[in-house]
Amino acid sequence: MELMERLAKERRARLAAERLLEQRTRELFAANEKLAVHARSLSDQIVEQRQVVHSARSEAEELKGQNSRFLHDLNRAHTAAVMAEQRLRESINTIRDGFAVFDADLNLVMANHAYLAFFEGQGIGPGIGYTDLLRLAAAKADPQGEEAGAWVARMCARIAGNRIEAETLRLANGSWIRMVDRRARDGDMVSLVMDITEQMRIWAAIDALPDAFVLFDREERLLTCNQRYRDMFPDSTAAMVPGTTFEELLRHGLRNGHVPAAAGQEETWLASRLRRFREAKETTETRLSSGRVILESDHVTPDGGRVGLRTDITQLREQQLALEAARKQAEAASRAKSAFLANMSHEIRTPMNGVVGMAELLCDTGLTEEQRLFAETIRSSGEALLAIINDILDYSKLEAERMTLHPEPFDLERTIHEVTMLLQPRAREKGIDLMIDFDLFLPTRYVGDPGRLRQVLTNLIGNAVKFTEQGHVLTRVVGMEAGDGRQQLHVTVEDTGIGIAPEHLDHIFGEFNQVEDERNRKYEGTGLGLAITHRLIERMGGAVWVDSEPGKGSSFGFRVTLPVAEGAAALRQPVTLRRALVVDDQFINRTILERQLAPCGIRVTLCRSGAEALAALAADPGYDVLLTDHAMPGMDGLELAAKVRAAGHVLPVVLLSSNPAAAKESEGAACIDAFLQKPVLRADLYRRLEELSVPAVAEPEPPPAPAGARQMRVLAAEDNRTNQLVFQKMVKGIDIDLRFAGNGREAVELWRDWRPDLIFMDISMPEMDGKDAARAIRAAEAGGAHVPIVALTAHAMEGDAEGILAAGIDRYLTKPLRKAAITAALAEFCPAEARSLAEEDAA
Ligand code: ADP
Repeated sequence: MELMERLAKERRARLAAERLLEQRTRELFAANEKLAVHARSLSDQIVEQRQVVHSARSEAEELKGQNSRFLHDLNRAHTAAVMAEQRLRESINTIRDGFAVFDADLNLVMANHAYLAFFEGQGIGPGIGYTDLLRLAAAKADPQGEEAGAWVARMCARIAGNRIEAETLRLANGSWIRMVDRRARDGDMVSLVMDITEQMRIWAAIDALPDAFVLFDREERLLTCNQRYRDMFPDSTAAMVPGTTFEELLRHGLRNGHVPAAAGQEETWLASRLRRFREAKETTETRLSSGRVILESDHVTPDGGRVGLRTDITQLREQQLALEAARKQAEAASRAKSAFLANMSHEIRTPMNGVVGMAELLCDTGLTEEQRLFAETIRSSGEALLAIINDILDYSKLEAERMTLHPEPFDLERTIHEVTMLLQPRAREKGIDLMIDFDLFLPTRYVGDPGRLRQVLTNLIGNAVKFTEQGHVLTRVVGMEAGDGRQQLHVTVEDTGIGIAPEHLDHIFGEFNQVEDERNRKYEGTGLGLAITHRLIERMGGAVWVDSEPGKGSSFGFRVTLPVAEGAAALRQPVTLRRALVVDDQFINRTILERQLAPCGIRVTLCRSGAEALAALAADPGYDVLLTDHAMPGMDGLELAAKVRAAGHVLPVVLLSSNPAAAKESEGAACIDAFLQKPVLRADLYRRLEELSVPAVAEPEPPPAPAGARQMRVLAAEDNRTNQLVFQKMVKGIDIDLRFAGNGREAVELWRDWRPDLIFMDISMPEMDGKDAARAIRAAEAGGAHVPIVALTAHAMEGDAEGILAAGIDRYLTKPLRKAAITAALAEFCPAEARSLAEEDAA
């Protein structure tokens, strides 16, 4: 129990102790808490205090910093001021101009190096007086007429005024200085001394210009001018002071009658001159009262002013006038020359016409061999002379650009053939072959000037024949379509003659260029042919060229583009012949013939000689025709024909010969069925072959002429007796009624009374010329019956078609007259009711 009690007591005691502990713990905790709060506020206070101390410290530090910065700045400012002064001094010292400052008493305060250098060695320094310096300067100057003392006095006097004039001083060493002085507000004086030698040099150069120079500011006030300007306008020198406006200068000149052209219209002239000055674009040409001509040009300066240059062009204008006069004179002389040429040609041609015509007639009469030679020589010399005159005339026409082309439809192949035929006799004499290779697929008819093309061809083929001693001359024509019905034609004339050295080729188309060397000295000519050819082709819009190798031959060519003539009929081609045997020793000829025959559907076999041909015929006698060349080495064409016949072949034999007339006379001619002139015109060849291919039908007899048909009435108007005679002889034997008129008036009268069927009309006749007569006849016809008129022109100038055709003339023939041309005209214009013209001897 006790134990229990003790235990309970103990337990109570323990519980009490626990409660006390609990109490104490709570108290302790509360006390702790209080302490913590206190401690916190204490630390806050400390932090605060600390901050106060800190900010006080930083304020103090900032103040200290400011203080030291201030001191630093002060220091720096001082240094800067010192440096600035230093820099200023240095800068002033670097100035190339002299700079000095004087105090109010005109004693030197400071001066830069340049200023001091000017007085170098004279021991000057601050304190020296301005007047003393002037004296020192005077000693170095080039006096230029002014005594040193006087100059110093003038310079001193000058600074007394308000505005101190600048002074230019030339020094003894040749340089120039300019002295500028200014008073400062505090009474100091600043002096500048500038070296203006460079400017003075430029100015001296401007003064030395042969042209006048003048400068105006943007207000058009005169700034400066050179001496030449003053000399050029002596009447205005009085007004030429800086500040005078350009207009005032002009007015001054006008008052003095300086510009004659302005007289009576001064204000207009002035306004226009001022406008040009302001625009500063055009130059002005002014003739002064002194007679001098001045070219004035004004230009804008960068600051808006005007710089003017005046050039005396009197001499230039005089030269121009002289040149102009000389040009006019030369033109007049050139006109006179061509008029002279035209007249001279007429004068020469008229008698030449007689000479050539009569010689031609003489040749037709019975002559001894010697007489024939003489007559032939007269004729050929006369023709040669006429050719030369023609060349000179053509050339002067081309030169004067008076050559007009007269395009008309013509047959190019035929033209080439005709030209070649005319040259055939000469070629035959030399034994050269003339060949034509006209591209088969090329049209033959074109629109061009056949006369001029004939001239070109005659020259080229003629030259080729002239400069070739053996071999051949081949004219080849190829072409290609050039669009819109035009064809570009290439014509080349190739020879195997003497050729041309390369160094001559370049200028061969120039005038009077004849290749002069021992090989061709024997050939005569004017040296104008190729120049005319060149210019003619150029006029046709084409080009010429040449290729040559000395000793081998030449090839001249030209290119023209011509319209193909309307209705160019295709050549008729024989169809019945199937196979042809062609014999020619010349490769080119064989080829040309083959190409001409192939398109007709003829199969061609080529042989190089008569022997080959005979062998071919022996092997195969089925040929339809044999075409053989006349002249061949070994066996010629005639011999071959004889042998063919002897071998019993009956096929037709055609002989191609450069001289068919002679061939017809030769032995063996009987074996030939047809003769063809070489080179063969395709149309002729085809016609002949066609004739051979159809069985011969008897030609129907032409209807008999109506009974009592009258003679053709022909009127020839010709003033020259010789020409009348020549004409008469040329138509001798032709059944016509011929009458002559001595001039145009007579021609008109005869036409009215007699009504001729055809009129041959000379152009140059006294009283009334041929053109006037033709015009009168056309006017009188008034649209009624039209009489054909054929003009006979004496010289090429007259041949200008416009004039002739405008006069109502149908055709023209150029003298000298040819029998063939006259008979052709007669045949063409023979009216149906007249008797057909039976010629006694065909030309
Ligand atoms: P011309 O024949 O009247 O002297 P051209 O003007 O026709 O004048 O020719 C000038 C020169 O060109 C001739 O003198 C000749 O020296 C040279 N020449 C022209 N054609 C030929 C040619 N086919 N072969 C060689 N030389 C030629």
